[in-house]
Amino acid sequence: MRAVRYHGPKLPLRLEEVPVPEVGPGDALVQVTAAGLCHTELHFLSGLLDLGVHPLILGHEVVGRVARVGAGVGQLEPGQRVIIYYYVGCGRCAQCRVGEENLCDALQAEYGFVSDGGFAEYARVPAQNCVPLPDAIDDAHAAPIGCGVTTALHASRLAGVGAGDVVLVYGVGAVAFGLIQYAAWAGAEVIAVSRTDRKLDRARALGAAHTINATREPVADRARELTHGHGADVIMELVSTQATMTQCTRALAKRGRLVFIGYSEDSYTVHPVQLVITEARVLGSVGNTLDELYQAVDLVARGRIKTVVDRTLPLERFQEAVDSLAKGELIGRAVFVP
Ligand SMILES: [Zn+2]
Ligand SMILES: [Zn+2]
Repeated sequence: MRAVRYHGPKLPLRLEEVPVPEVGPGDALVQVTAAGLCHTELHFLSGLLDLGVHPLILGHEVVGRVARVGAGVGQLEPGQRVIIYYYVGCGRCAQCRVGEENLCDALQAEYGFVSDGGFAEYARVPAQNCVPLPDAIDDAHAAPIGCGVTTALHASRLAGVGAGDVVLVYGVGAVAFGLIQYAAWAGAEVIAVSRTDRKLDRARALGAAHTINATREPVADRARELTHGHGADVIMELVSTQATMTQCTRALAKRGRLVFIGYSEDSYTVHPVQLVITEARVLGSVGNTLDELYQAVDLVARGRIKTVVDRTLPLERFQEAVDSLAKGELIGRAVFVP
């Protein structure tokens, strides 16, 4: 089969011929029909995220049809449309016992991170990682649910986003579109921040009450102005450069929660007094749970959250998608249709 493989930091991705994975007991072989390109892939390429496993098929937002199932699989049938949950936990640690496989002490697999993912014609995963997809969602629009929408749900819950909160979302990509819609649906007032007007237009169309263009406006000052001095109760930091982190800290309301989802080369430095006198909290958010994937699929199927697909393209044009993402040109996801 054809697959786009990663060969290590600062090396180009390559389209290669590799064997179709063997199906073992409990497994499903999924014929991939759509796979989203996430910002994490850029972190692999730059070496900022180096998990040491390569060659590796990237891609953790994976949708397809069940092609074959292994022995002992009762709940899935060939032909069924599914989206893949990308973690396989150990099933025994304290986190796995409560369904938090994203924090597992001894991960068995993580597709597109340390195990072969979905930028290929086929992917093999345990059958329980296949979540059925309703007909209401087409393949390309389902792909961004796998990381974009689920990560948004997870971070919103960690931060306790609710009615009356002011939620500032810094950086407008696929996760942000999920965050904006979820927060607006939960009754929060959303401020979206980006350097690109076209992204801000889309953010407004999907429920952001206010937008700030960070190239033209001082973000923290403007956020204070929009909230009559209050600031943001929750800030979702998807960019995390020195410049954006400084603005985020300054824009936080009293008892505000600053949630790191994205990261860059830069470190977060803050004088403790800034957190002390406002009783602010700083949180990290990584990935999502299987339950959150089920809920994300349901929210999209019911039209509560819309995914944003900039373009679909065949695997052969992987470099074009990577370059466009790196240049910040994409409004939402580029989705491969192998
Ligand atoms: Zn991702
Ligand atoms: Zn575990």
